[in-house]
Amino acid sequence: MNNLYVHFPFCRAKCAYCALHSRAGSTAETRRAYCGRMAEQIMALDAISNLSTIYFGGGSPALCDLSPLFDALRTRTAVAGLPPFLDSSCEFTVELHPLDAQPRVLEQLKDGGVNRISLGVQSLDDDVLKAMGRLHTAAEAETAFRAVRAAGFTNAGIDLIAGWPGTTIESWRTTLARATALGLDHCSVYTLIREPKTRLDLAVRRGILALPSDDAALAQIDTARAALAEAGLARYEISNYARPGFECRHNLAVWRGEDYVGLGEGAHGRVGLVRTASGVETTVTPEEDAVERALFSLRTREGLSLERVARRWPILAPRLPAWREALEFFKRQGLLQDVYRLTPRGAEVCDSILAELV
Ligand code: SF4
Repeated sequence: MNNLYVHFPFCRAKCAYCALHSRAGSTAETRRAYCGRMAEQIMALDAISNLSTIYFGGGSPALCDLSPLFDALRTRTAVAGLPPFLDSSCEFTVELHPLDAQPRVLEQLKDGGVNRISLGVQSLDDDVLKAMGRLHTAAEAETAFRAVRAAGFTNAGIDLIAGWPGTTIESWRTTLARATALGLDHCSVYTLIREPKTRLDLAVRRGILALPSDDAALAQIDTARAALAEAGLARYEISNYARPGFECRHNLAVWRGEDYVGLGEGAHGRVGLVRTASGVETTVTPEEDAVERALFSLRTREGLSLERVARRWPILAPRLPAWREALEFFKRQGLLQDVYRLTPRGAEVCDSILAELV
C-alpha cells in the first residue's frame, strides 16, 4: 500500500457552491473523537511502512487537532526510528483553508511531517469570495500563502474556481495575476459546477445569479492556462498546473491507476478489486478494475498509451482494437493528439471521451 488519503468532513461554514461531503457547526469534541477514530484506523492498516504519498483532504483538515494522526503515522511508518515522511521521500499534503494558516497550526503540520500545502483560495476578488461564502478576503488568502512559505513549506499551491457568475475576464485576469505573483508551485483550476441543492443552485433557480455561458467559462480556463504557463506552471492534468517537479504525486498515482487507501467519512479508496466510497466497500470484476485504472491516465499529460495498457493489463487485450478505433476517431476530430493525449479542446470534453471508451 503506497498511497493514503484521509478525509476530514468539517468546515467553518458551507460554501455556496459546495456539494462535497462536509458540514459546518461541529464541536471540538466531535472533531477530537473523529481524529481518534482515524488514528485507530491508521494503526490497524496493513503494510504502511512504505507510503509514497499521504493526502489529508476535506473539508478543512486543520480545523482538527491532527496530532493523533501524526503520532499514528509516525508509529506505523517509522523505519530505524526515522519517519520516512520526514526525509521527504513521502509527499505529505494537507489541504488548508486560508483562515487556518496560523503560525501555530503551520508549525504543527511541519512537525507532523507535512511537506506540501494546498491552499483553498478559489478567487482573489473580494466580491466573488463573499458571494461564495468563503469567509476570507483576497488579501487574507495572499497573507495565508505567504505564511505557508514563511513556515518553510517549499511545495505549496492554491485552488481557483473559474466561471463564477458575473466574473468578467478582467477580474479573472486580476485573480490570475495576483495568484501568480505569489510564486506558486502548483495551481488547480476547476470550472464551477452547479451542484443540485447548493445555495448557488438555489440562487440560479431564483434568478439571483446567472451562470456564464460554456464559452465564457472555457475562455476563463484558457486564460488561466496561458497565465499559468507564463508563470512557469504547465498543465499536467485537465484541472492541474505545476512547476516542473511539483506535480501532485498523490493525484498522479490515482490517475495512473495505482492503489490508494481512503479513510474517513467522504473518502474513496481502491485496493485490488475493492472500492471504498464513504466507508462502504464494493468489489469490482478484474475487467472493470483494469478499465478504470487504465483509462484515467487520459486525463494526464502522459496520456493513454495502448501499448502500456496491453503490457500492464493483458485482460484488456480484446478491447484494444475498439479503443484504438474510437481514439483515432477523436484524434481526427482534433480532440486528441499523438497516441493519445488530449488537445486543449479535448480537455473540455474528456468525460464524454471516457464515457465512450467505457
Ligand atoms: S468548498 Fe471546502 S471549505 Fe467550502 S464547504 Fe466545501 S469542503 Fe468546506
